Amino acid sequence: MLNLKNQNWENTPTPFYYYDLELLNQTVTLAHQEAARYGYHVHYALKANSNAPILKTMQQYGFGADCVSGNEIKQALANGFGADQIVFAGVGKSDAEIKIALDADIFCFNCESVQELEIINELAAQQNTTAWIALRINPNVNANTHKYITTGLEENKFGINTWELPEVLTLLNQLTHLEFIGIHFHIGSQITDLQVFEQLCVRVNEIQQWFREQGFNLKHLNVGGGLGVDYYTPENNAIPDFAAYFAIFNRLLEVQPGQVVHFELGRALVAQCGALISRVLYIKKGQKKNFAILDAGMTELIRPMLYQAHHKIENLSSNLPEQTYDVVGPICESSDCFAQNVVLPETHRHDVIAIRTAGAYGEVMASNYNLREKATAIYSSN
Ligand SMILES: *Cc1c(COP(=O)(O)O)cnc(C)c1O
Repeated sequence: MLNLKNQNWENTPTPFYYYDLELLNQTVTLAHQEAARYGYHVHYALKANSNAPILKTMQQYGFGADCVSGNEIKQALANGFGADQIVFAGVGKSDAEIKIALDADIFCFNCESVQELEIINELAAQQNTTAWIALRINPNVNANTHKYITTGLEENKFGINTWELPEVLTLLNQLTHLEFIGIHFHIGSQITDLQVFEQLCVRVNEIQQWFREQGFNLKHLNVGGGLGVDYYTPENNAIPDFAAYFAIFNRLLEVQPGQVVHFELGRALVAQCGALISRVLYIKKGQKKNFAILDAGMTELIRPMLYQAHHKIENLSSNLPEQTYDVVGPICESSDCFAQNVVLPETHRHDVIAIRTAGAYGEVMASNYNLREKATAIYSSN
């Protein structure tokens, strides 16, 4: 990340999202290089950040798109991704969204339930076409991450459980408008314990073996995303360890001749290049604690409130001795607090505050609750 303190934001209204495109390019370059080493295909998960300049960058590196809604499919197509590079996941695809994907003739639907298979088959039949599908399988691997972003356990709503697979195979024989091309997994997000991916590889191997025994040779293996980032010391780890991540799959995943391996990365590619820039509106001194009240709140970045997520907070304006603050937003909700007991240089009204690592799941989750304006995005490449 550029030195945020050197930026001249004197006359720039806050709050806004700031994106360092230089860091984004470095990150994507490295991810691309490490994936290319093994011939892996990377699909960028649009839901992490779907701004056009970000998508353009991903698309330029030849990444595909991982979409979870009909509008994300449209946004991917509008930003230069080929339909043949688009995968479509989601536990609740609506009929209208399935039709958008069928009309665009996307590469693959990652299907999450028995009933979804029947509906896609029905809609594909109506359009006189064949949908390529992969089964999203719940491998029952614990991602060791926050419970709201764990997706690969049997208690989660995502994916098809392994005990359902015999029934699914029988059904697939009857669904003549589906072409079964592979299996898909996505076990959670912000995974920092890389051993979790080792366990995933072991499960994928077992499940693949089972399919082979049933007479299916799968052309595509999609192992999802989930690689985490360092929210505590972003300056030390601006770029995730893509080399270590892809090397695990190369070492442990049993890839059959001709098989194509796909990844779906979101957060790891975009989180560090973004920051939410805000100003202090008021300092409220209490007997127990001091509050720094910002002009940004949960409407601009909800992760701390939704997942108790940690984001590094910096005062870019002050070099005074340190004090402790609860850093809160202006929204009429007690949960609208970015962090408690944050040590900052003594902070005053109008100081500029950076909330770091906000490039993923920040702007995309913005709301206009309290009828707030949508914050703008500012891009820098120098
Ligand atoms: C959200 C999501 C991803 C991306 O997850 P990250 O943790 O941002 O890498 C990948 N695949 C699917 C199916 C998803 O829903």
